[in-house]
Amino acid sequence: MSQQGKVYLIGAGPGDPGLVTVRARELIELADVIVYDYLANPKLLDWARTDAEKIYVGKRSGMHSIPQDEIEEILVDRANKGLQVVRLKGGDPFVFGRGGEEASELQIDKIPFEIVPGVTAALAAAAYAGIPLSHRDYSSSITFLTGHENPEKHSLSIDFKLYGQTNGTLCLYMGVGQLPRIIKELKAGGMSGDMPVGIIQWATLSRQKSVFGTIDSILEDIEQSGIGTPAMIIIGQVVAQRSKTEWFEGRPLFGKRIVVTRAREQAGQLSQILSDQGAEVIELPFISVEQHFDPQRLSEIFAGIAVYEWIIFTSANGVKNFFELFYKAYDDIRCLGPMRIAAVGAATAREVKKHKLKVDLVPQKANADALADELIENEGIESVQILVITGNQNRDNLVKRLESDEGRAIVDTLPLYKTTKTDLSQNPAAERFRKEGADAVLFTSSSTVKSFVEQHAALTLEPGARKPAFGSIGPLTTKTLEELKLPIAFEAPQASLEHFVVETISSLNAQ
Ligand code: SAH
Repeated sequence: MSQQGKVYLIGAGPGDPGLVTVRARELIELADVIVYDYLANPKLLDWARTDAEKIYVGKRSGMHSIPQDEIEEILVDRANKGLQVVRLKGGDPFVFGRGGEEASELQIDKIPFEIVPGVTAALAAAAYAGIPLSHRDYSSSITFLTGHENPEKHSLSIDFKLYGQTNGTLCLYMGVGQLPRIIKELKAGGMSGDMPVGIIQWATLSRQKSVFGTIDSILEDIEQSGIGTPAMIIIGQVVAQRSKTEWFEGRPLFGKRIVVTRAREQAGQLSQILSDQGAEVIELPFISVEQHFDPQRLSEIFAGIAVYEWIIFTSANGVKNFFELFYKAYDDIRCLGPMRIAAVGAATAREVKKHKLKVDLVPQKANADALADELIENEGIESVQILVITGNQNRDNLVKRLESDEGRAIVDTLPLYKTTKTDLSQNPAAERFRKEGADAVLFTSSSTVKSFVEQHAALTLEPGARKPAFGSIGPLTTKTLEELKLPIAFEAPQASLEHFVVETISSLNAQ
């Protein structure tokens, strides 16, 4: 029996992917087809199967969105093929989202469907601007209104005069374009010019912007703030009750666009810390890291792993690849033997600690020379067998020093991964950078600096784009920036992601 197709009309929430329901995520993960529009954050598609068909039906620049009947046709067609179809709609599908029309069409075509609600823009914008939508003293009703029935239709369908007398809260969707007329009608209906108004654009995203004023001032306030669509307009006494602490827009990196230059596999952690601090993060995948090793060498070294007195990790990637391969070869961590462990810096050490292994040595300064100094001066490594885990960009200098007359150790190196360059000319993140620029570019290694310079053509800013400050994670990266004649705005006092972010915050806020 062939599987029966089904359509899921799902609320994609206001923007932040963390604000969709658990049910929505489950269904996105399972879907064969995902049909999504302009206000559904494309990041939600990262949860989808790689082989899922993804169909964008929203507005494209310079073009109209796909007509509603064509969208409905796509849903019906895929469901009739027995596929599980997710239809993602911004906010809630039944709040000014034409979800009702899509559901009736599915009903007519006898296609089973399910509806998953979402956080609608009014709730999200209020929460992220600190406005209580209801308040015992100021508002005991909340009304959702639309400035026009659909974005293509520019007429007022509501008699706003009727709302001029309300003591409640008005939440106006799609209202920015019609606001002058709406305000005129509200006032004609009796609304006071002092009535507080808040407008929140791109609520919940790092590019959220908001402006506050009154019925009489707001048109001018909009002009000055440069706020545009999509935006939620909230009118009512509750707007004045907004919390004084701006929990969202008040975060230290809010409004800053920051480029992270790590390899794709590693970008997560730094990006996460930056966005928790409010930054909008652009990840440029300059380099990609792949596991790469000589199988014979690996098995020789694994066979004799217990002879080493020290194992040195020169990067978090080295640690990851080492343990992945080690666990494939052995099912008991004790097979590592009683060796001591050194890591070049805090991030590398943290990766080791994930395996519940203590790191015996991390140099004060996170670089290979400092590590060599400490081993040579404090550990007595003469005739000691040492294993160094590296990538294809070898730490020759470290090995040379350990083996030289200074150290006289017996060193084996084991390269486990390969770093290659990514072509950025077609990359959407690079395109965004060219167009809009950024407040800072954070370099986390010398190789990212080199790639930045090599990828110059794909990263040349267009006129009007914001010129970024360059930040470096530590002395070696700084040296490379200097050699390549890039101006350094700041360097982390210690080479760790946390210190780097703290330094970024103080540097960008001092500007
Ligand atoms: N179904 C959606 C509404 C679609 S109508 C929902 O439930 O939220 C589109 C309007 O929603 C926009 O014009 C704007 O007024 C509002 N909107 C959607 N997302 C928004 C956001 N992130 N910030 C502010 N307003 C938003």
